[in-house]
Amino acid sequence: MFDKILIANRGEIALRVIRACREMGIASVAVHSTADADAMHVRMADESVCIGPPPSSQSYLSMPALISACEITGAQAIHPGYGFLSENAGFVQMVEDHDLVFIGPRAEHIRIMGDKITAKDTMKALGVPCVPGSDGGVNSVDEAKRVAAQIGYPVIIKATAGGGGRGMKVAQDESSLEVAFRTARSEAKAAFGNPDVYIEKYLQKPRHIEIQIFGDGKGRAVHLGERDCSLQRRHQKVLEEAPGPAITPEERARIGKICADAVARIGYSGAGTIEFLYEDGQFYFIEMNTRLQVEHPVTEAIFGVDLVRQQIRVAAGLPMEFEQDKLAINGHAIEVRINAEKVPGFTPCPGRITQYHAPGGLGVRMDSALYQGYSIPPYYDSLIGKLIVHGRDRDEALARLSRALGELIVDGVDTTVPLFRDLLKEPDIQSGDYSIHWLERWLERHYG
Ligand code: ADP
Repeated sequence: MFDKILIANRGEIALRVIRACREMGIASVAVHSTADADAMHVRMADESVCIGPPPSSQSYLSMPALISACEITGAQAIHPGYGFLSENAGFVQMVEDHDLVFIGPRAEHIRIMGDKITAKDTMKALGVPCVPGSDGGVNSVDEAKRVAAQIGYPVIIKATAGGGGRGMKVAQDESSLEVAFRTARSEAKAAFGNPDVYIEKYLQKPRHIEIQIFGDGKGRAVHLGERDCSLQRRHQKVLEEAPGPAITPEERARIGKICADAVARIGYSGAGTIEFLYEDGQFYFIEMNTRLQVEHPVTEAIFGVDLVRQQIRVAAGLPMEFEQDKLAINGHAIEVRINAEKVPGFTPCPGRITQYHAPGGLGVRMDSALYQGYSIPPYYDSLIGKLIVHGRDRDEALARLSRALGELIVDGVDTTVPLFRDLLKEPDIQSGDYSIHWLERWLERHYG
């Protein structure tokens, strides 16, 4: 096992990894930009290293600075968290070239899944059901029109290098296809430096269902059921729950096995998520994330497991402590993402936290790097906390969420907490009856 791990991240996910390290008796090294000198992850880690100025391109994304930080502190492994360098195959290579261990999958698997066209081809070949669409990339308007006519409108044009909900354009009919195609390509070029796009059928009322998988890198893999992340704004998740309110135990077992078998066959190592759209009882693969997800705590809650601990074990060459037939679901969990944003415009709202009080009690987990007096810097993601509740069933989880939101105090900046208080009053949320388009429509009706 490692003696010391460096965490190439900040905020709540850095704390999450530091906590797992501490429970395992492993020393932790935090890295930070000059803007984060007073951040909680720096205070909580055993050691810290300043790796650069505020812009993440010069700090959290600076590969040489991270490698040097390992060398200076004697850290043997790097946990990337999510975002930043977590899905950068070049970084994995560099880490390994310096005789360090990357806590995550092999570079080759990150590379395959990072290109969505290759990912889809690979999954199709492994027997995973996919959204009907183009075979590979689409390079011209004429080709786009041909493909769209074949699969039927509406269609969605997506960037093969895409992520974070960017570079996607919907075309309702042939007349809007050309503009959608050109816009998607130029957005993809600007955001990812790669203009390549592909086309999929645009599903009308799907749910976003994702399967948590875990592989030992030696051909064994398990699944830990699904998360329903259908509540989205601009293709970004806002609330996640597990198990999915619309998924039956039989469906879970079937799609879970397909996913676990697929990643076992490629010798996948560590945590991963296979994302699907789910409509009328059918699952359609959209992408795979080769890292720990923001919403992993809902899975941890219902299975009573620590995914980060398993990531560290597998990276150290130890067996994972999961066995498929011993993984049983207990109750229901819901996570809400608390962002420093002003509702309804969702404009980022950095600033000083004048008061902070985290909710507690039975079944409540608050993953946040906030503290009273902390100043949220304007340079990074606006996620400031995740509130996760666990109950014996969905109704109890909802009641607990409402109770916990009532206890939470974050003063000094605007947050998305009022949004969740409003959402919890909605009958569709109470019954779990929502598709990926529900929230956008509700926001329009509710806030205009
Ligand atoms: P990203 O990597 O940018 O997150 P995804 O492929 O995971 O992109 O898609 C993100 C979200 O976009 C999905 O959860 C869903 O809401 C929407 N989406 C993607 N593909 C389709 C599709 N074929 N039909 C309808 N919605 C889609």
